[in-house]
Amino acid sequence: MTGQIIFTGTSSAMAEPKRFHSSFIINHNDYFLLVDAGDGISKAVLESGIHIGMLNGVLITHRHADHWSGLPSLLTQLNLIRRTVPFTIFAHESDLELLKDYLHSSYLFDERMNFIMEYISFTAGSTFSPDEGLLVSAFANSHLEKYRRYDTSGKAGFFSGSFLFSCCGVKVYYTGDIGSEEDLYLTDEQPDIYITECSHVSEAAIRGLAKKYESATIVMTHYSVDQGFSLVSLADKNPVSSITLAFEGMRIDLKTLAESEKGKNSYV
Ligand SMILES: [Zn+2]
Repeated sequence: MTGQIIFTGTSSAMAEPKRFHSSFIINHNDYFLLVDAGDGISKAVLESGIHIGMLNGVLITHRHADHWSGLPSLLTQLNLIRRTVPFTIFAHESDLELLKDYLHSSYLFDERMNFIMEYISFTAGSTFSPDEGLLVSAFANSHLEKYRRYDTSGKAGFFSGSFLFSCCGVKVYYTGDIGSEEDLYLTDEQPDIYITECSHVSEAAIRGLAKKYESATIVMTHYSVDQGFSLVSLADKNPVSSITLAFEGMRIDLKTLAESEKGKNSYV
């Protein structure tokens, strides 16, 4: 049994040299699930030391460009390397048709691909299992609510997800992009690792998280480079290192975390 989180990108929606939009990989044994696929995702995955052919699927948290605009490019790369095994796209049920339209409008027709593109939809409140021993529970947050009044067509869909991943005896919670600090507390579970975005969250709220989930490691991601400097000091002020600033290429070994005292960092 092996498990790790590999941070492939940690930046906000702002493009920055040498950084990538927020995404990470949950690796469970031989299964590699990419979480989000913004602009430049193929390069981000390669830079993190993972060959894109190793990916089994992608989970799209929401449809902001920094989280899904790289998907056609990633699938094109998989076709170029002549992938033959299926690739799974996990998306909220309200995103699925728009997502297929997006891929088809990029000439990625299912019948033309060298591999099968599997589409699996989920709903808020549901739990699904991409791989035996890996569970993913979906929560709806309010990140996209502010756009609802502009959608005169009624077609857009406004799901934005937070997720709880369970594998290797470890619970990993990821806020995704959120709409308010109340969205930080959507799960009743006590995660061992709590990954929070930092673009819509105050430093005081992150301190509050560390207090509420005191046995968890809080990992900060989705931040601008300027903001990173102040977040570094927030992390440094916690000598038990319960708050950590993620960086491109950072890995957390889940098995080591499960076997060690919960909440202690297990970075490799
Ligand atoms: Zn967003």
